Amino acid sequence: MSKVAFITGATRGIGRAIALELANEGYNIALNYRTENEALETLKKEISELGVECYPVQGDVSKAEDSERMTKEIIEHFEQIDVLVNNAGITKDKLIQRMKEEEFTDVINVNLVGTFNITKNVIKYMTKKRYGKIINISSVVGISGNAGQSNYAASKAGIIGFTKSIAKELASRNITANAVAPGFIQTDMTNVLKDEIKEAIEGTIPL
Ligand code: NAP
Repeated sequence: MSKVAFITGATRGIGRAIALELANEGYNIALNYRTENEALETLKKEISELGVECYPVQGDVSKAEDSERMTKEIIEHFEQIDVLVNNAGITKDKLIQRMKEEEFTDVINVNLVGTFNITKNVIKYMTKKRYGKIINISSVVGISGNAGQSNYAASKAGIIGFTKSIAKELASRNITANAVAPGFIQTDMTNVLKDEIKEAIEGTIPL
C-alpha cells in the first residue's frame, strides 16, 4: 500500500503545493481543509489525476476535538499516516500597543496549539507502526522576529522549540520531526500586505 501524507491547511498556498508535490511522489493524500470551497474540489481532482487517492477531512486544527476526529477518520480510511505536515496557519498583524489579547491568542491557537493538537493524535499511530515523518512549517520570522508580528513570530518560534523537543522524544520510535522556516512566499497570506511592507521584506532578500 502507498504511503499516506496528512497535510493541514492544504487547499491554498504552500499547503496545496506540498499536497500536489507529495501526490506526485506517489503518496496517498489526506488533506485537511477548514472551509469548503471550489479550491478543494479542484485540488481533489488534480490529486486524483496523479493516480493517487485523496481523502479530505474538514476541521479546525485549533480545536482538540476536531483534531482527534480528523485523525481517526484518516486512520479508518487509510489505516496509516506516514507523513504529517503541520502547515495550517494564520496571521493577525498589529503592533503590540494595538494588539488585542484575542489577536495574540488566536494566532497562537491555530499555529502552535494546532500543531500540538494534530501531532499528539497522529503520533499514537506512528508510534505503533514505529515509523513517521513530521514536518512543521515555521517561518524565518520565528527566528528573526518582525515588527507587527509578535503573535505570529512567537507562534513560529514556539514551533521550532516544540519540533526540537518532540524530535528528541520520538527518535527511539523511528519518528523524525523537522521544522521548515520559509522566507517570503507569494500566497493569500502575503498578498494582503501593503506594497511598502512587501518591498521592505523583499529588500532583506539578497538575491
Ligand atoms: P494561506 O495561503 O493563507 O493558507 C493558509 C491555510 O491554512 C489555508 O488553507 C487555511 O484554510 C488554513 N487554515 C487556517 N486556519 C486554519 C485552522 N484553524 N484549521 C485548519 N486550517 C486552517 O497561507 P500560506 O502562505 O500558504 O502559509 C502556509 C503556512 O506557511 C503557514 O503556517 C504560514 O505561517 C507558513 N509560512 C508562510 C510564508 C509565506 O510567505 N507565505 C512564510 C513562512 C511561513 P482556509 O482556506 O479554510 O482559511
